[in-house]
Amino acid sequence: MNFAFSDEEMGFLKDFQDHLAQERQRSDAAVIFAPHRETDSWLVDGPERRAFMKRLAQAGYIGMSWARDYGGRERPGIYDYLLNEELSSQGAPIIGKGVGCIGKTIIAHGSDRLKREFLPQILAADIEFALGYSEPGAGSDLASLRLRAERKGENWVLNGQKMWTTSAHFADWYWVAARTDAEAPKHKGISVFLVPMDHPGLTVTEVKTMGDHRTNQVFFDNVDVPGDYLVGEENAGWRYVCEALDYERFALYTVGPLLLKFQSLVELLKLARRGGAPLAADPVIRARVAELACETETATMLQRRVIARAIKGDVPTVEAAMYKLYSTRLGRSIANYALDCLGPLGLLRSGAPHAPFDGRWEMSDRATVVDTIGGGSSEIQKNIVARRGLGLLVGA
Ligand SMILES: Cc1cc2nc3c(=O)[nH]c(=O)nc-3n(C[C@H](O)[C@H](O)[C@H](O)COP(=O)(O)OP(=O)(O)OC[C@H]3O[C@@H](n4cnc5c(N)ncnc54)[C@H](O)[C@@H]3O)c2cc1C
Repeated sequence: MNFAFSDEEMGFLKDFQDHLAQERQRSDAAVIFAPHRETDSWLVDGPERRAFMKRLAQAGYIGMSWARDYGGRERPGIYDYLLNEELSSQGAPIIGKGVGCIGKTIIAHGSDRLKREFLPQILAADIEFALGYSEPGAGSDLASLRLRAERKGENWVLNGQKMWTTSAHFADWYWVAARTDAEAPKHKGISVFLVPMDHPGLTVTEVKTMGDHRTNQVFFDNVDVPGDYLVGEENAGWRYVCEALDYERFALYTVGPLLLKFQSLVELLKLARRGGAPLAADPVIRARVAELACETETATMLQRRVIARAIKGDVPTVEAAMYKLYSTRLGRSIANYALDCLGPLGLLRSGAPHAPFDGRWEMSDRATVVDTIGGGSSEIQKNIVARRGLGLLVGA
């Protein structure tokens, strides 16, 4: 059994770390690299972070695993993973939706027209996408979505509502799953569309999560979409959505932020004092943090299992569910324990006088709750492990 990366992979990583070291010399580095940002470290949400992405594109780091015919380098997916792991470990925005979920789906199923229009813009990091799947009545049970798309001549007209759309307030394009056949079984009547976010029929309103993460609800009022912007085949959308999620499991499941969080806890214990003695000297605290160290190592290994299966070309559904369940719960435990150690002052929010670490752990405690919901809640991950991993079928 070999958990190590190859010399070539390590060489790539070293080159990329050098690239990031150069980036860190820039005067706007503090806006780009934010290692203690919580849930939104992957968002491209400001001009500096967008410009950072464009520089990544110019250096050839975007679309590495795409076929050469589409401007890629045909490198194995492990390179996308290594890239994202390093980016997220340093708090920089990661590559994801555009190059992975959307780009790869367009390559596999999109028309030549969509390929010509979108692939070059994705490779150049010129456009940002929002993903419109969830609705008020369709989250865990996504196939129940109801946003209606009706054919009117050459166009489609979309009416209804999406919920929890991250990035809708700054994205350029909306990747939307809509119901195109209300009579078909629910998985068979869904299609995917591309809609410009500045369409006058779209209204975006803010929803703030308890972790301060901005997400949005989006209302569709007679949003007409030219037929060219239907992705792939009509009513085949469920397959495209599932394939896109498979990619997400591979490249977006980074462990770096969790390791950073644990390291920050260790630093806190070295710095904080109680009754004149460092917290790190307390045997009860040392025992608990040793347990958390073991759990952090376990999370790292669970994540490696996701990668190992994905590299073989398998879909790591059960491994990814285990990793998401375990790592997000551990994130909660670490943040929670930091608050225990800080005592009452730890509950002060950022900006309040005397807030330790400027309220970072208070914020982390709230944000880590959100991590257990977005991308599929913990209960759904448990269902996947029980059903698909252990064969414990409901009603069997
Ligand atoms: C920060 C954040 C960002 C997000 N970004 C996006 C985005 O960009 N685009 C997008 O489309 N969506 C996005 N989502 C939505 C996310 O995918 C859903 O919130 C998630 O899938 C849960 O769906 P729901 O909120 O409708 O909860 P529900 O599905 O209604 O679940 C409510 C509760 O019931 C439990 N539950 C549901 N079904 C079962 C079951 N079968 N067995 C056991 N328990 C169950 C759930 O675990 C949960 O505790 C985001 C969510 C968050 C929090």
